Amino acid sequence: MRLIDTHSHLFLEEFSEDLPQVIERARAVGVTHIFMPNIDSTTIDAMLSACNTYKGYCFPMIGLHPTSVNADYVKELEIVARELKSSGEYVAIGEIGMDLYWDKTFLKEQQIVLDKQVNWALEYDLPVVIHCRDAFDYIYKVLEPYKSCPLKGIFHSFTGTADEAARILEFSGFSIGINGVVTFKKSHLPEVLLEIPLEKIVLETDSPYLTPVPNRGKRNESAYVKDTLKKVSEVYQMSPEAVGNVTSENALKVFGMLK
Ligand SMILES: [Zn+2]
Repeated sequence: MRLIDTHSHLFLEEFSEDLPQVIERARAVGVTHIFMPNIDSTTIDAMLSACNTYKGYCFPMIGLHPTSVNADYVKELEIVARELKSSGEYVAIGEIGMDLYWDKTFLKEQQIVLDKQVNWALEYDLPVVIHCRDAFDYIYKVLEPYKSCPLKGIFHSFTGTADEAARILEFSGFSIGINGVVTFKKSHLPEVLLEIPLEKIVLETDSPYLTPVPNRGKRNESAYVKDTLKKVSEVYQMSPEAVGNVTSENALKVFGMLK
């Protein structure tokens, strides 16, 4: 069994007590790579430290998360720029995007910050990892001018409609990140998934959030990507091994690590 967690915040406080065991459990279920999206300047050190401890297994991204965008965004962006310039270890720009669920105060700033970071992704030839919450049309407006650019990346934690998935896939370099939400009882994602080719799907946990059934409500961790795999395999009516292989290959391709 081969599995990749393309989105996991294992550097957060929730894992400060037992990260070694969390990594051990991930290895035990067949997870071969864990990709870690940054949040903002306060999380870089912890993320790099975790990725250093598990070099070749955990991979860091750099970016400013939309919920951390406020009046101070210029300073935060400078830190992202500095990291990009000084370190070659980041495998993606993430996570970036827009989130209008909690707060619309900095809508304009969120768009500016997203656009800037998309530009850096092209400049540094890195994939983007996009967070979208109640903001699909706004994000699409920012991304649309880049349709003919070699932009690649993941629309993470996708919970949208088939139509939105189709619009994302108009960008030939984009994949769609599926997590525990697909296992939730009332989720419409299983039907939507049937409209998306498996070659465009990558799996993730978004740990410590969005824990799949049967552990829903508890802290999420990378090993639970196996529960999302199980559900996705049922939807596509394929074996977990086959879905694990295809989605892992998709993930390595996005991150430019396919050998
Ligand atoms: Zn995230």
